[in-house]
Amino acid sequence: MPADDIDPDALDRQALRVVMRLQDHGHEAYFVGGCVRDLLIGRVPKDFDVATSALPREVSRLFGNGRIIGRRFKLVHIRYGEKVIETATFRAEPKSSGDDEDLLIREDNEYGTAGEDARRRDFTVNGLFLDPATDEILDYVDGLRDLDDRILRTIGDPWVRLAEDPVRIMRAIKFATRLDLHIHQDTWDAMCEQAEHLERSAPPRVLEEILRLVRSGSSLGAFRMLRDCGALGVLLPDLADYLGPRPTTNPEDKDRAGAFWALLEALDSRVHQGWKPTTAVCIALLFLLVIEELSRIEDISLADAAWDILEPLAAHTRLSRRDFSRARRIITIQPKFTQAPAKNFSRLLFARDEDFPEGLDLFGLRAQARGKGWDIYEGWVARQDRAEAAPDDEIDSERRRTRSRKRRRRRRPRRGGRSEGGD
Ligand code: ATP
Ligand code: MG
Repeated sequence: MPADDIDPDALDRQALRVVMRLQDHGHEAYFVGGCVRDLLIGRVPKDFDVATSALPREVSRLFGNGRIIGRRFKLVHIRYGEKVIETATFRAEPKSSGDDEDLLIREDNEYGTAGEDARRRDFTVNGLFLDPATDEILDYVDGLRDLDDRILRTIGDPWVRLAEDPVRIMRAIKFATRLDLHIHQDTWDAMCEQAEHLERSAPPRVLEEILRLVRSGSSLGAFRMLRDCGALGVLLPDLADYLGPRPTTNPEDKDRAGAFWALLEALDSRVHQGWKPTTAVCIALLFLLVIEELSRIEDISLADAAWDILEPLAAHTRLSRRDFSRARRIITIQPKFTQAPAKNFSRLLFARDEDFPEGLDLFGLRAQARGKGWDIYEGWVARQDRAEAAPDDEIDSERRRTRSRKRRRRRRPRRGGRSEGGD
C-alpha cells in the first residue's frame, strides 16, 4: 500500500541513510513501529527505529558508528552525534516455555522474517513497516485499518498477548490516551481480566511505565483507565484505596477522588506548556493526598506517614534512594509554604533549600488543582529569585537568627528503622 500520507521531509535523515545502506547491500530494511504510526497520523516521531533482515554482525560491519548492544537479544545502535538509530534484526514469536499454563515471555531471541517480526509486536498500529525506497507501507497485521478507524487492538488473541507480557496493559493505556485511540472491546475485556497479572511483571519496568503515564500530558485519562480496568489496585494499592470504591454514591469518596483527579488535571496542563516533572515530583504528586490522609488519621507526622507509604514502594520497585528521599522531603515541607514567618523559620533560607524548587512545583500544582493559594505560590516564586541573589551577609544573619533561637527538639522515639533525614 503506498504511503501517500507521509511527508518525505518528516523522515529522519540519518535513519533514512541507515535503511538505504542496508538495502544497497542486499538486505531488507524498513522503518518500523512507533515512528511509522506517528508519521501516518501526522505526529512528529520521538525516535526512528529500523528493522532489517541483516544479522547484528552484518549491520555493525556496514556502519563504523554501529555498536552491538544487549546480551541475549542483540541490537545495533548506530550513533550520529547525540542521536541513536536502533537497528534490530527481524525477530520471530518466541517459542512457548513448554508450560501451557504459563505464557509469560522470558526469552525473546529467535530471528525471523518481516511478517513474523510484525506479528510479535504488541498492537496492530505498532506493527507497520515503511519502505522509504518505494514509499510502501508493509502491513501484515491490519494496522492501517485500525489506524484509520483509530482503534487500539492487540495483534492476535488479546488474552494470550497480554498474558505473555502484562505490561502491554499499561502500554495500551499509554497509546490510547496519548493518541486518542479507542481500545477495541476484546482487548479491553482482556485488559480487565489480566490486570492482576501485572504483579508478575518486573517492578522497575512497571514503575517506568507508571512514570511515563504521569508525564504523558494525558495522566488524568490514563489513571482513570488504570483504575477502571483494575490495574491501579495491583500497581498502587494505597492510591486505589484512597480513591475508594467505584462506582460510589458516598460524597466523601467522591471528594477525595475528585481532589486527586484535579491534581492530575493541573499536572497535564503544565506538561502541555512544556514542563517535565522530575521523578521525585511525580512520586510525590501520586502520593501527596494519601500521605496527608494517613498522617491525619493516625496522628503521625507527614514525614512518618510518607515513610510508611513510600518506603515499601521504593524497596519493591527499586526506586533510587535519592528519588525516594527527595519525594518524601518535598511532601514533608509542604506546610512550610503556608507557614507564617517565625523565630525559627527563615523564608529566605527555605527558598534556598535544595528541596525547595521541587517542593514549590508540588505546591503550585496543588494551588492550581484546588483553585486556592495561587498568590501564595507566586509570592514564593518571586522570593525564590530574590533568595538566589541574596548577599552572603544577609544569609549569614538569617542563619544566626534562626540557629540561636532554635528550640531543642524533644527526641521522638523512632518507628521501625526510619533513619532518613528530613523530619
Ligand atoms: P513511543 O512513541 O512511546 O516511543 P513506540 O511505539 O515507539 O512508542 P517503543 O516502546 O519505543 O514504542 O517500542 C518500539 C516498538 O517496539 C513498538 O512500536 C512495538 O512495535 C514494539 N514493542 C515495544 N514494546 C513491546 C512489547 N512489550 N511487546 C511487543 N512489542 C513491543
Ligand atoms: Mg519509540
